[in-house]
Amino acid sequence: METIAGIKRFMDDNADGMIELQELLTSIPALAPENNGDGELKKANALKDWLIKRGFDNIDVYNAPDKRVTSGVRPSIVVTVQGLEKQAIWIMAHLDVVPPGDLSAWNTNPWQCVKKGSKLFGRGCEDNQQGLTSAVFAALYFVENNITPRYTIKLLFVADEENGSTYGVNWLIENTDLFNKEDYVIIPDGGDKNGVNIEIAEKNILWLRFHVLGKQAHGSRPDTGNNTYLASCDLALRINDFENKFNKTDSLFSPDYSTFQPTKHESNVEGVNIIPGEDIFYVDCRIIPTYTIEDVYAEVNKQCKIVEDKYGVKISYTSLQESESQQTSKDSKIVEILSSAIKKAHNQDTQCIGIGGGTVAGDLRRIGIDCAVWSTLDNIAHQPNEYCLIDNMVKDAVTLAVIFI
Ligand SMILES: [Zn+2]
Repeated sequence: METIAGIKRFMDDNADGMIELQELLTSIPALAPENNGDGELKKANALKDWLIKRGFDNIDVYNAPDKRVTSGVRPSIVVTVQGLEKQAIWIMAHLDVVPPGDLSAWNTNPWQCVKKGSKLFGRGCEDNQQGLTSAVFAALYFVENNITPRYTIKLLFVADEENGSTYGVNWLIENTDLFNKEDYVIIPDGGDKNGVNIEIAEKNILWLRFHVLGKQAHGSRPDTGNNTYLASCDLALRINDFENKFNKTDSLFSPDYSTFQPTKHESNVEGVNIIPGEDIFYVDCRIIPTYTIEDVYAEVNKQCKIVEDKYGVKISYTSLQESESQQTSKDSKIVEILSSAIKKAHNQDTQCIGIGGGTVAGDLRRIGIDCAVWSTLDNIAHQPNEYCLIDNMVKDAVTLAVIFI
């Protein structure tokens, strides 16, 4: 217990240092070229300099080439603190942020970390600098106190998380041998107010774009046309009804069933008196992993055929995104390590959960690595007036340090 008290003291004493690191990171926008940004290099360099100044001496930078940014690279940083055991536990956070959006909705400058009471406001303060800062100070506890951690600490600060990770973790997976199947990864980039939910699973994701071709006609003469909007509506309802067909549930998830939701619809004709001969709409499917995407495709094909015959239209579709996810077991060692650290440090009981899907944890689980997504946060990422609660940042730093004692 003395060690845990020592860790808590260290983190309390270093709360100002955490705020300073947040100030530094917030002042350097790391936006992807998709958002008219110039990437992560400046922010990565500033972080690297800071880490060196504070005594970290095992830092590697991995540069994913990307011609769209001035430097030509999207950097990810790996910081290693050798442990007594070879077992590595990674703590992964991302360097990039999303744009501030409507500036008039902000009460402060998004590119300046502003402390108001118990909160730090600024773009990136929660997503993902809170987790990044907690991870850095958890490791710093061992470095500054000259204590060898039990497991090898691997901090990973990646590029390109907000736009699909092609130049971030997916590039690292494909182009380096950084990760071993035996490694564990904690991703403090998602969580709940109390910091007790450990995310271990994602639903399978399938996004479809449907293109319906029929025959345009005057609004008064449906007998001479083939109404594609009507066909689209019918098909959209049929696909939504998959929620009753693929009806197995899994209590890990909220909601605990597969969802098939028609979402976007493209504009078709200009006039109210025109029956559209072409229609395009989209469906977002989040599928309980007991079903495969193949299962869903088979049913989609069946329903397309029925609608084609009923309305005399031609339907084609393309997938905009599809990913089948692996689950980290509830009995995985990383879940046990993390939940026992939370219990020891804060006397809180945890629960395992699943989410709707589509995070970097899915990419790592697909190559066989057990991952836990967890942190204590208010979930205001991507919103105006994004903030981090200082207490959450300090609390999670304690938990992450306790993991390694
Ligand atoms: Zn994030």
